[in-house]
Amino acid sequence: MSKSLIIAIDGPGGSGKSTVARSVARRLGFTYIDSGAMYRAVALWALRLGMDLDDLHRLEQLAKEARIELPGDRVLLNGEDVTTDIRDPKVSDAASRVAAQPGVRRAMREEQRRIGSTGPSVMEGRDIGTVVFPEARVKIFLDAQPEARAQRRASELGAPLEEVARELDARDQRDRSRAEAPLTQAPDAEYLDTTHLTPIQVEEAVLKLVRERTSNGKGHK
Ligand code: C5P
Repeated sequence: MSKSLIIAIDGPGGSGKSTVARSVARRLGFTYIDSGAMYRAVALWALRLGMDLDDLHRLEQLAKEARIELPGDRVLLNGEDVTTDIRDPKVSDAASRVAAQPGVRRAMREEQRRIGSTGPSVMEGRDIGTVVFPEARVKIFLDAQPEARAQRRASELGAPLEEVARELDARDQRDRSRAEAPLTQAPDAEYLDTTHLTPIQVEEAVLKLVRERTSNGKGHK
């Protein structure tokens, strides 16, 4: 397992994970890893191939074969830039379906551990502090009230609030209730409700926790 310093940020959609993970990574000079983008890339490929999203064997094969790269803020699938395509609501829904398949999770987990072992990283997702890097020194569980989460996502996507709220709720329920690596707070994760916080306040809270848990942020590889 990784000897590098990992900052694990988990939580439901719209809780502010990506914003804070990106800014904290930039502030500390760490690599930012969006693990959700990896599930989205597999889902996009499956949709393009018209695959049955319940076919666990073919999905596992696909997840193993997918060449996913995350240079900077971009997402490449088999060499193609799919940064925009993976944000389509159809892909969001498909991502949480394929993410329920143990074989797909196995393939993604291996890749996430490999990337995390290459240097200090901020990795965001649903199971980073519980399953992917249970030994991570800094773990944060971000949350926010459902209305606030839907509102944020709706403004990001420029989509109707009600539709976004429905989609987010369905995905959250699926992510929380699946048998394999469900979305849940690790016992040693710090819970942070971002409903009434600005992105700067969230960043400050996370940096404070990093300092507390890593003796002033020093000593990481
Ligand atoms: O974070 P994002 O909303 O982009 O993730 C898309 C989907 O990927 C989630 O709804 C979830 O089902 C899945 N996911 C996961 N484990 C992670 C990250 C994302 O199951 N670590």
